[in-house]
Amino acid sequence: MHFATTTKDEHAATVTPNLTNYAETYRDFDWQDASSCIDGLPGSAINITYEAVDRHLQHGYGDKTAIRWLPKSGAPQTLSYAKLAEQTSRFASVLQMLGIRKGDRIFGLAGRTPGLYVALLGSLKYGAVFSPLFSAFGPEPIRSRMSIGDARLLVTTERLYRKKVMPWRDQMPGLQHVLLIDTSDNLPEGCHDLDRLLASADPTFPVEATDPEDMALLHFTSGTTGTPKGAVHAHQAVIYHILSGRYALDLHRDDIYWCTADPGWVTGTSYGVIAPLCHGLTMVIDEAEFDATRWYEILQNEQVSVWYTAPTAIRMLMKAGDDLPAQYNLPHLRFIASVGEPLNPEAILWSERVLGLPFHDNWWQTETGGIMLANFAAAPIKPGAMGQPLPGIEAAIVHRDRDGQIHFSDTPDDVGELALKCGWPSMFRAYLNAEERYHSCFQDGWYLSGDLAYRDSEGYFWFVGRADDVIKSAGHLVGPFEVESVLIEHPAVAEAAVIGIPDKVVGEQVKAYVALKGDYKPSEILRKELIGHARKHLGASISPKEIEFRDNLPKTRSGKIMRRLLKARELGQPVGDISTLESDEDGARK
Ligand code: ATP
Ligand code: MG
Repeated sequence: MHFATTTKDEHAATVTPNLTNYAETYRDFDWQDASSCIDGLPGSAINITYEAVDRHLQHGYGDKTAIRWLPKSGAPQTLSYAKLAEQTSRFASVLQMLGIRKGDRIFGLAGRTPGLYVALLGSLKYGAVFSPLFSAFGPEPIRSRMSIGDARLLVTTERLYRKKVMPWRDQMPGLQHVLLIDTSDNLPEGCHDLDRLLASADPTFPVEATDPEDMALLHFTSGTTGTPKGAVHAHQAVIYHILSGRYALDLHRDDIYWCTADPGWVTGTSYGVIAPLCHGLTMVIDEAEFDATRWYEILQNEQVSVWYTAPTAIRMLMKAGDDLPAQYNLPHLRFIASVGEPLNPEAILWSERVLGLPFHDNWWQTETGGIMLANFAAAPIKPGAMGQPLPGIEAAIVHRDRDGQIHFSDTPDDVGELALKCGWPSMFRAYLNAEERYHSCFQDGWYLSGDLAYRDSEGYFWFVGRADDVIKSAGHLVGPFEVESVLIEHPAVAEAAVIGIPDKVVGEQVKAYVALKGDYKPSEILRKELIGHARKHLGASISPKEIEFRDNLPKTRSGKIMRRLLKARELGQPVGDISTLESDEDGARK
């Protein structure tokens, strides 16, 4: 049976989207009213963990499953909201016992195991700051981020500790404690066994009454365009996590939700921990890495109803072919969304055909802390567009003049920088130790995103490219995304990355790097065919003059194509910070 013919189950069929009238909700939105989505704590205090976990016990949902954890192998484990409240209280009391102070920085370096989630939520419950690190980082990116963040305590596993932290630990005297999630008979020197500490800790530790502006999370950006920045987020961000989860991901309490992002990236925290738990639903956490068969099995067997993933993963599913999904039945799946990179229209057409549902693209950044633009459940999707601003968010296209002043563009389809009016709760409060850089992102009360986009006459925003990635060729502004999307429409192409190469005559020439689907081999004929295909759809002026075949494209560990690396290598320039590079062009793992 094919998905397109699968009938949706009762829940999926009867759920009314949270946002049914976008125009009206947007017009009438009021932050004062919206803030009532949280319960809050006495004295106007707000604590993320209280909203995500403990308050559900007050409302009678303690027994409900909060987390369905799927280990790499073995049987799934479940954690109820009551158990999560207890475990996070134990963790908070361990922090107290170790002399950790409010505001101290706790780092997490572990795979997607329950211990990591307990550490994250327990740290916030205590009033400490949590900074999740992606566990596949090497020793240096870990050391440098922990040094920028002034780490006081690290939660990790014995294997990761021995391999990635022990070599430099004595250079970081501020790192007072290391807690190991996995128990071992052979505890390395200077480490605690977290399970043992938790077992004897107070399970009733009360939630700290943190101020809404208290620092809660420190998130490092993906490093796609340069050295990663440490973005600071406050406890009141939770208001926006709830609202955006409601509007952009259409979360309902009865949902089974799966966010495939790792908490080492902001998506895996804002929408892989906080927003879903705040909505009181059941979320699936998969410990394993991407595997097409496993993913379809999870969607089917866990009866996932809302799924939030990323373009790279979607393209990998597409590459795995249509026969595989045809073996599964997904009547529960109701809403699917994507973030992190431009979502090629081809991917939406594919999911409609193969999964029976269109992917809803949305846009945001580590800095924004939450989804800013989205294709909504009840509004028409425009394939290729990032969507419309969420209620409460004002977005605009601006131009900067020579003096750095911004000018607003009212002309539909005019390409400029995407800007957001300051004031939403999950906005970053600082780049840690980089004040000047932080201030340079703002102008006249607007946050300048560094992404180029345009707004069409119906108010949808379309991604053109990173300001740094846009190509200027013979007087045309070429957005890499537009060219890549056309290339990917060709049946042979799995992935494409487009850059500009300096050219004396036209300024920059468009060059494309292409990874082919399994059944296709690079050849001169195919190269010509692809150039012809691009010309037909894009016209001669912006289609690539050169196409190079690669087995793989260089990506960040969060799955973003690193165009700057392709360009630096092409031009023989220094490659810059590649601490977040996942795999090289030849497919070799770092
Ligand atoms: P760095 O800032 O370190 O260079 P980064 O910008 O990739 O890394 P993130 O904050 O993880 O770090 O990613 C945000 C960026 O991802 C956005 O500015 C945008 O360029 C891109 N992005 C996210 N979602 C989308 C989307 N739906 N369409 C197009 N681009 C997107
Ligand atoms: Mg960025």
